[in-house]
Amino acid sequence: MLKKEILRMMAGFRRFRERFFTEPSVYGRLASDGQHPKTLMIACSDSRVDPAILFSSSPGEMFVVRNVANLVPPFEGSGGFHGVSSAIEFAVINLQVENIVVLGHRQCGGIRSLFEPQIVRQGGFFTQWMTIAAQAKGKVLQKFPDADVETKCRECEKESIVTSLENLRTFPFIETAVAERGLQLLGVYFDLENGQLWHYDDSLGAFQEVTPT
Ligand SMILES: [Zn+2]
Repeated sequence: MLKKEILRMMAGFRRFRERFFTEPSVYGRLASDGQHPKTLMIACSDSRVDPAILFSSSPGEMFVVRNVANLVPPFEGSGGFHGVSSAIEFAVINLQVENIVVLGHRQCGGIRSLFEPQIVRQGGFFTQWMTIAAQAKGKVLQKFPDADVETKCRECEKESIVTSLENLRTFPFIETAVAERGLQLLGVYFDLENGQLWHYDDSLGAFQEVTPT
């Protein structure tokens, strides 16, 4: 027997079909034309931070990668299973996206684990993955040595977005796309406690609140 959460999902799928598969069908168009998303979105796996819901986007608008703490690893030429890097490569080279957005958020469990390591299993996949944000953590500890944990987490949630933007630039095909066709890289931060969105201003080296119009 299906659990009630799964039954809820099935009912949700029925509503989804009514919305997107009735004439004129959104999916009819997407199926015949293929996908042409303009934006690659790199977001956290956190259940509260679904980019499609957050940005009220429609099917086909965003190519989305979600992982723990919305991190981008630096470019590596070695073998291995590079899930995030392969999605980035496909989005930039095949789909020719015009924007890459790294979406961070308040109350990120991945970032919190850097300051409260006891909340996660040590020595596994999680802690290894989070070493991508070690540099961001180091900067926060340097800038805010006496701050409380909440402040450190908040600052590191933002700083790790900057790290991911820097790591994106280590991919040769991204550097080329930025120079040759104006691919834009953008960092945004969702404060889920206050319903605010911030974006990283490169020229200021700081986050600015996006005012809804
Ligand atoms: Zn998160």
